[in-house]
Amino acid sequence: MGTNRETLYQAKKRTVQALARAGIERAESETEWFLCSLKEISRSRFLLIASEVYLTEEEVISLNQMVQRRISGEPLQYIIGYESFWGRDFLVGPGCLIPRPETELVVEEALRYFVKGSFLDWGTGSGCIAATILAERPLSRGVAIEVSPQAIEWAWKNLRRYNLLHRCLLWHSREMSDIPVPSQSLDLIISNPPYIPTAAIGRLMKEVAGYEPYVALDGGEDGLLYYKELLHVAPIWLKPGGMLVVELGDSTQGEVLANYNALGLRLMKLAKDFQGIYRIAVWCRV
Ligand code: GLN
Repeated sequence: MGTNRETLYQAKKRTVQALARAGIERAESETEWFLCSLKEISRSRFLLIASEVYLTEEEVISLNQMVQRRISGEPLQYIIGYESFWGRDFLVGPGCLIPRPETELVVEEALRYFVKGSFLDWGTGSGCIAATILAERPLSRGVAIEVSPQAIEWAWKNLRRYNLLHRCLLWHSREMSDIPVPSQSLDLIISNPPYIPTAAIGRLMKEVAGYEPYVALDGGEDGLLYYKELLHVAPIWLKPGGMLVVELGDSTQGEVLANYNALGLRLMKLAKDFQGIYRIAVWCRV
């Protein structure tokens, strides 16, 4: 056994230092994610075996590459290749938005109303929303729309991974007017649309602004572009009594949209996230 071989524990120690020196806040937990993904083990297993298990030479090289990528600002999830959402791992990488915990609240809200039937997920990205709804509601079918060719590949991989493709039509488009369903046929429209005002994108964290897809972020001048479109078309596609559930960027957007004159829809709810920010809006087709 070579004397310079490293245990997981030793590798962790130096990696935490390197990440912390580079100003990465959660250096310790990020390091554990890297090592766990290299060894394909859970984090609880990691704690048990860290001082006994050694890294191979190739693993050391991979670890160093991961650390370099992270230090240059790439998001952790693109490097390890997945993010957890509603208890399932979603494959992610450059080209698709990384699922966020706030979006789980949006899904939770939608599942309150949606028990079975047809839904549309506009801007599906990784497919996290559509896949979760399909998995949680076995009597449902969905259309997941995505404009980005890279993102739609991630969505396809994730739907296939959870064996949900046969209940989902992946539609490569951004148009809201040519959705391949009959009018007044949907029970739910759900969306986490791009909602960052164009001028504010440059002020986001470098992990987001520099790496996550621009099309997934840019919500036009006031960030409201896609909400206005969704409010406009939702009455065409929703059945009477069907719901429109969207994720909001911030409380101001919620307040503006609450006062928006949405023909054929009635605002049912504005709900807050963990930080007390308006994060979800729900309308019902009258
Ligand atoms: N629906 C995906 C998500 O919520 C992507 C959203 C987006 O690209 N704006 O993560």
